[in-house]
Amino acid sequence: MTDTIGWARLSAPDASASQSWPELVPPVSRRGAWYPVVDRVHPETAAGPDGDRTLYVLDIGPWRLAVPANILEVRESLPDQFSVVVRSPTDPNPVRGTPTDLGNTYAVCPQSRCRVRLIGHPEKLECPCCGEEHPVAWEEAC
Ligand SMILES: [Zn+2]
Repeated sequence: MTDTIGWARLSAPDASASQSWPELVPPVSRRGAWYPVVDRVHPETAAGPDGDRTLYVLDIGPWRLAVPANILEVRESLPDQFSVVVRSPTDPNPVRGTPTDLGNTYAVCPQSRCRVRLIGHPEKLECPCCGEEHPVAWEEAC
């Protein structure tokens, strides 16, 4: 097993970023899910005029993925809260209009990364995948 140096989830790029959200999102990662950070890379050749080009290497299931630090939110330890994902109507949603569509706001379990439909504004949720109960991080929707 590889040492975990932190936990990271994708965050929307800030307004000054030159790339938009869909083209930056690694397709194998799940929005709102926390992934183990197994390495940090400082590519000298990639240093650009807009500052930090640090890459974090995430352990995403069978893949290792190097992701630019500026589109990640990194924590020292795995949060104990459901992530709240708020999609804009223009964000890609391949299941829109189907029974598996969770709507534009849904929760992601910190343990199992299961996506959970949000009904109302619950303080806590029990994950249907792993059965764990966690608070819902409404104040830091991503
Ligand atoms: Zn779960």
